[in-house]
Amino acid sequence: MRHRSTSPVWHPFTQHALQPAMTPIIRGEGAYLHAADGRRIIDAIASWWVVTHGHCHPHIVRAIQEQAERLDQVIFAGHTHEPAEQVAAGLLALTPPGLDHVFFSDSGATSVEVALKMALGYFRNIGEPRTRIVVMEHSYHGDTIGAMSVGARGVFNASYEPLLFDVAVVPFPAAGREQATLDALAATCEKDQPAAFIVEPLVLGAGGMLMYPAAVLREMHRICQAFGVLFIADEVMTGWGRTGTPFACEQADIAPDIACYAKGLTGGALPLAVTLCGAAIFAAHVSTDRARTFFHSSSYTANPIACAAARANLELWRMPEMRARIASVAALQERCLARLRYDERFSDLRRCGTITALDLHADEPGYLADVGPKLQAFFRDSDVLLRPLGHTIYVMPPYCVTAGDLEAVYATIDEAVDHVL
Ligand SMILES: *Cc1c(COP(=O)(O)O)cnc(C)c1O
Repeated sequence: MRHRSTSPVWHPFTQHALQPAMTPIIRGEGAYLHAADGRRIIDAIASWWVVTHGHCHPHIVRAIQEQAERLDQVIFAGHTHEPAEQVAAGLLALTPPGLDHVFFSDSGATSVEVALKMALGYFRNIGEPRTRIVVMEHSYHGDTIGAMSVGARGVFNASYEPLLFDVAVVPFPAAGREQATLDALAATCEKDQPAAFIVEPLVLGAGGMLMYPAAVLREMHRICQAFGVLFIADEVMTGWGRTGTPFACEQADIAPDIACYAKGLTGGALPLAVTLCGAAIFAAHVSTDRARTFFHSSSYTANPIACAAARANLELWRMPEMRARIASVAALQERCLARLRYDERFSDLRRCGTITALDLHADEPGYLADVGPKLQAFFRDSDVLLRPLGHTIYVMPPYCVTAGDLEAVYATIDEAVDHVL
């Protein structure tokens, strides 16, 4: 059964004229979604990159149930609660040293808005107002106006262009062209005295699962430090094991000045995000002058039930098995990808941790490539949830995925590509 009704619901990133039918889902379990008509769908993109351990993980479900009976919501100005305090402490223990304070919000985009506001507030409060932001080509940081401003411009945001603020852009460090990125970053840091550089560490997600080495990340961080430019790591997608370590910055051995985490923060069960920063940024906002207050809030800041889910997620990450589990998913992914390595239908096969991606030789690359919707329709009919980014197919499974599940996913990719080419 597909829902082709007169539903009033407007879906995200969905062209209703071309995709009138939504698949009604009634249950999630592990790596699978169950549709209303009894079909069992393998969730090969972790339901938009959020579900890390698997759907309805019992430890997280129990934490939500218990918290919902104790304290559902409380204003977070002037009040606090144990789930939030424990999430903050747990995050500081897991993330790079140098991050000392935790600001809660509700989504990746808002965690980015908070990061930008922290950066500008810091410079204003220390009496050295800097406002310019440096970004990387092909980046994605969310869909609110500020987050779009620091993301790639294109078909997604053409209508809103007049509202987007101006930024400096450094090129993506494609293989062999890394130095151009570093030179451009150093040049703009010197010339423009920007407040901050915001970047997705190691993998640019929505930009097409573009990957670059840890050495480049490390060098970009060094350049920002040399020029006193705040380094904002947007780990909304790369966090929680996706790149093979809990956080991508770990692989470059760097401590960002500001870091954004969301998506897998609750294991994918509830919306919650955090922006972490170092002591200096917090200190710049601490004053008896109330005008220096950090003026940001959302109604549900640090919702106790969402925090309880995040606390349960952190408990899972403290188990020694987690790193082994990540390594094993990465190895399974590598094995599946390797079989397509010399296949002429594909180019640029790549993997970073548990994420794999490959590009299809398409006449018209880019997000609106014709093959995208055709592939997606084939995947839907094959009970595999994959959502190509234009001519880029990627696999980002929940970590409970089995070898058999992944083999089925790649077999479907193989068939789908034969079908559309
Ligand atoms: C998804 C994503 C965001 C936005 O997160 P939302 O929760 O969808 O607002 C921001 N940055 C990156 C890198 C993302 O992948």
